[in-house]
Amino acid sequence: MKTLVHIIIVVILTVVSQIGGLIWILNFGYFKISKRPISRWKKIFSFSILYLISTLLIVPSIAKLNGRVPLPITKSSNLIPHNYITPLLNRHYVKPKLRNQLYEIANETNSENNNLKLSYLDANFPFIDGFPLLPHLSHKDGRKVDLSFYYTKNNEDGNLKPSNTGYGNFVEPLNSEYSQTKECKSKGYWHYDYTKFLTLGSREDLEFDRKNTKKLVNKIVSDPLTQKILIEPHLKTRMKLSNNKIRFQGCHAVRHDDHIHHQINK
Ligand SMILES: [Zn+2]
Repeated sequence: MKTLVHIIIVVILTVVSQIGGLIWILNFGYFKISKRPISRWKKIFSFSILYLISTLLIVPSIAKLNGRVPLPITKSSNLIPHNYITPLLNRHYVKPKLRNQLYEIANETNSENNNLKLSYLDANFPFIDGFPLLPHLSHKDGRKVDLSFYYTKNNEDGNLKPSNTGYGNFVEPLNSEYSQTKECKSKGYWHYDYTKFLTLGSREDLEFDRKNTKKLVNKIVSDPLTQKILIEPHLKTRMKLSNNKIRFQGCHAVRHDDHIHHQINK
């Protein structure tokens, strides 16, 4: 029974943070081999310290050898995490050329409107090409990152957050607009809007900032490094976007009217 609990914890930690499962094994393995009489809570505390040291100090250097670099984890530059859970779980690694591109876009955006920074969501794990960052199957090679839309409240802009995770609070189609969600769900893709359960708290008082989100999308797609971005068709129409790098992801994925999926060329 005890072994089964450890296995479940290792699987969960590996799925959410990639390195957490390995650190759990090393930590509890050490106490098992050394046979030191130590309480379970002290072992968990020791795991937490080891995990934090690895995440903040060791993983960034080793990931570099794998051709991946972390996105900034503080809010001091113009490129910021939507929430601190993302970097804490090592979900903020990308190829250096993608990080450079994001910095450029973030700095340009901020120089045009200093209320705005570029806010990122899930990117990739630090190691192993092909290791998916669930639930995003394609975030597995350092070339993908999800970015937040912009929102306003009482016509004031800024990096306002409609949901705590950055996912699941949708910019719904208007009655006059085509609803891809209806179409996908009617075809049996029941999972198409399941990210509505992943908000970890949301607010309804914000308005989608069409003007600044459109500017952001145009900056991204005008860069030759960009391969494609994914957003819902009704938002592409509403923002009057026409670049052919802006695509629909298909009903097998989840709806993209809560964030931009961005990916660069190989
Ligand atoms: Zn994505």
